[in-house]
Amino acid sequence: MGKTSYAIAIGSNRRHGRHGSPAAVVAAAVQALAALGTVDSLSPIRSTPALGPAGRGFANAAAILTSRLAPDALLAALKRIEAEFGRRPGQRWGPRVIDLDIILWSGGPWGGPGPTVPHPEFRKRGFVLDPLADVAPGWRDPLTGLTVRQLRHRLRRGVPVDRADPRS
Ligand code: ATP
Ligand code: CA
Ligand code: CA
Repeated sequence: MGKTSYAIAIGSNRRHGRHGSPAAVVAAAVQALAALGTVDSLSPIRSTPALGPAGRGFANAAAILTSRLAPDALLAALKRIEAEFGRRPGQRWGPRVIDLDIILWSGGPWGGPGPTVPHPEFRKRGFVLDPLADVAPGWRDPLTGLTVRQLRHRLRRGVPVDRADPRS
């Protein structure tokens, strides 16, 4: 297929033996992403300090990746990177060294095999929308018709966003 653009969310909340802090893990994961195409832009890596003594700090970023891979092939490649970083299955709610999610792609809603794109939860997550607004504020969510900037603004004001928004 031709080249397509992806918005990828990158997160870590566990140290890596070689790379180090969650922010360093995110930076290393971006290098790995570059092997799948071209990283056109990268947000600042945002670190959220741990809450309480037992908590762990999060690092989050967003990247725009141009790739020839279709969403199902890209997801498989992202899972390989996660495994290379030592992520094991069953770490969904606990600390995990790296999480790579496909948030949007330039082909609109993906109805094929593999991932659900747009990512079903991204409109409710500041830790996704904040870095995404750094790199792609005008990217329009194909399901609501709202831009990333508008989605972020609504989340911050606590305005619910319907799938098919009549105000858009
Ligand atoms: P969440 O999806 O709520 O952010 P998570 O990232 O912690 O949760 P994982 O355990 O990393 O959850 O992923 C669960 C599965 O979700 C993956 O194995 C993958 O097959 C599937 N998935 C569906 N849509 C996507 C997508 N857009 N990006 C990444 N994974 C996806
Ligand atoms: Ca996730
Ligand atoms: Ca994931």
